[in-house]
Amino acid sequence: MTVLVIADHDQRTVRAATLSTIAAALELGPEVHVLVAGHGADAVAVQLANIAGVAKVLQADDPVHAAALAERVAGQVLACLGASAGRYSHVLFPATANGKDAAPRLAAKLDVAPIGDVVKVIDADTFERPIYAGNALATVRSRDAVKVLTVRATAFAAAAAATGAAAAIEHIAAVADGGKARLVRSAVSASERPELASAAIVVAGGRALASAANFDAVIGPLADKLGAAIGASRAAVDAGYAPNDLQVGQTGKIVAPRLYLAVGISGAIQHIAGMKDADVIVAINQDPEAPIFGFADFGLEADLFTAVPQITAAL
Ligand SMILES: Cc1cc2nc3c(=O)[nH]c(=O)nc-3n(C[C@H](O)[C@H](O)[C@H](O)COP(=O)(O)OP(=O)(O)OC[C@H]3O[C@@H](n4cnc5c(N)ncnc54)[C@H](O)[C@@H]3O)c2cc1C
Repeated sequence: MTVLVIADHDQRTVRAATLSTIAAALELGPEVHVLVAGHGADAVAVQLANIAGVAKVLQADDPVHAAALAERVAGQVLACLGASAGRYSHVLFPATANGKDAAPRLAAKLDVAPIGDVVKVIDADTFERPIYAGNALATVRSRDAVKVLTVRATAFAAAAAATGAAAAIEHIAAVADGGKARLVRSAVSASERPELASAAIVVAGGRALASAANFDAVIGPLADKLGAAIGASRAAVDAGYAPNDLQVGQTGKIVAPRLYLAVGISGAIQHIAGMKDADVIVAINQDPEAPIFGFADFGLEADLFTAVPQITAAL
């Protein structure tokens, strides 16, 4: 039984969620291969070849993979499966935007049922995944010959670097471009702050901030003091106080930092779904009845416009 992990990367570095996906793959089978579909992504292949437990890296390096287009990644995986003569029993994608885009396309082509957001491997056929915004865990069993999964990164510790020799890197032919999709423009927000999905500390603001200017003036300095990533509730994003790639929750990013500060966030279940796995949750809210206090390890009942600048100054 060999497991194929599809690397998520930016052509230069491996996204942390890939390492958690490798950890999940190692629970499934003794032999784990990693596919790097990219262009000029040698450093990514080398980094992955040096991860403990990776037996082989398949590298498809070609301009068709310069943008991580789901159609082409799914086509590349299909080609790997075809060339492997039934060797791969599982294909694992990180449950990142890229992984969630490509996995269902692959599953449709294979005529199998994809299993999304796996948080636990029970055995080779049986997995746990959250449903109802994380309010329940479903145990699902698949009888498909090839199981296509996306793996929730926060549920698995990242696979570590190997101490011994690196795995072999095998160069494979890139699939031809089907021509149905092309990248028109990529707008990447540049930030000095840590990446939200993998940050150790997250300071998140809610609707209570009341304006984009307040959000920046109150949340930004506290995040800078703590070396934290910034998150936001959907209400704050919908109101335009924060960009939507900062949204935490059921329809935003799933985070599991060591420390999560929820500032002026009520604690709606859809928000909780995205941050309840944080080690320590601190809530600042002026309403003692706010549901967030039911999830917080530490709660401060206060006006955020007074409390947060004081905390920032004290830090
Ligand atoms: C299908 C679906 C998916 C959703 N997905 C998400 C998601 O991914 N993420 C998400 O966050 N939400 C999501 N939501 C929305 C969610 O239900 C809530 O509406 C949202 O989380 C509320 O955001 P909030 O806590 O910032 O705002 P509010 O609920 O308005 O809470 C603001 C809080 O700030 C407090 N407050 C006000 N002024 C101050 C002050 N001066 N000092 C201190 N505290 C103050 C208030 O007491 C209140 O508790 C989703 C909803 C649906 C239906």
